[in-house]
Amino acid sequence: MARSRFGWQKQSLQFSLSAALAAAALSSACVAPAPIPGRGPDAVVSQDGIKAYLSSAESVDGGLLLISLKVPRSSRGLASNQAPVAEYEGRQFPLYSLGGEGEGLWEAPLGVPFNKDPGQDRVILWLGKPGASEKIELPFRIVPGSYRSEVLSVNGKHINPSPAEVARIKREGAEIKKLYERQTLTKHWAGQFLFPIQSPVTSPFGTKRVYNGEMKSFHTGLDLKAPIGTPVRSAASGEVVLAKDLFMTGKTVILDHGYGVFTVYAHLSRLKVKPGQVVTPQQLLGLSGMTGRSSGPHLHWGAVVQKSKIDPIFLTRLMR
Ligand SMILES: [Zn+2]
Repeated sequence: MARSRFGWQKQSLQFSLSAALAAAALSSACVAPAPIPGRGPDAVVSQDGIKAYLSSAESVDGGLLLISLKVPRSSRGLASNQAPVAEYEGRQFPLYSLGGEGEGLWEAPLGVPFNKDPGQDRVILWLGKPGASEKIELPFRIVPGSYRSEVLSVNGKHINPSPAEVARIKREGAEIKKLYERQTLTKHWAGQFLFPIQSPVTSPFGTKRVYNGEMKSFHTGLDLKAPIGTPVRSAASGEVVLAKDLFMTGKTVILDHGYGVFTVYAHLSRLKVKPGQVVTPQQLLGLSGMTGRSSGPHLHWGAVVQKSKIDPIFLTRLMR
């Protein structure tokens, strides 16, 4: 009995306690719970043999997990025609199918919020309509990222903006926040994401920053070394949802890759795409520069997954 090899989760099963105890007894009598090879150790199996698991049992804050759901051909399949839905931080988002209709593999990337406290966390997976179907709870642990500190010097107007500039910063912030609400049900990407520039990282994600000895912030992206005019290319296929000059990030491109995944390319000197355009992997988006709040020429590369700003490096390792 294959499913007795995996741990049963009480919350995931509409299952009587005695049956659960019997299953646990059976499990310990047969073989010890074993991880799915190459997967997180905490696979949870539903009554019907549907397996749910995360790519890892733990993540740093600002990290990425992949939620997977395997529906075996022998099971009844999912309870409804609806895609399974993940629920995290009060947000619900559907999984996409990587296999046949109602069978095979479903997935969704999950962004772990930057600066979220270390400790136990969980994501809920609804096999049908949220609140009205079987649910599986997938636990994971947030471990603190090893983020550093750095001191920077930038143009004073970006540290002490005028009231008009403050209004502009707020307006642009609200515009971007709204973009990240998009739930595009097209999985534009295929395979791992690629770096927008092949060059060294000059400032990693998550660094605590002190500007001109006063203002403090966190670096919610990755800086890549780029002399002005270096071609900046898309990390993966996606739709251009923003291509304009912003106060803080200068000339900026934002791509919506679908299913809550966005990438950001900032401080560009030239924009080469327009909103609404769908780009292919490694398509030219613009030329690097030092527009906006920038201490020198570089490319700032950011990533947002389900509204959480994450380290884009994980997109190059985990996406498929
Ligand atoms: Zn940056």
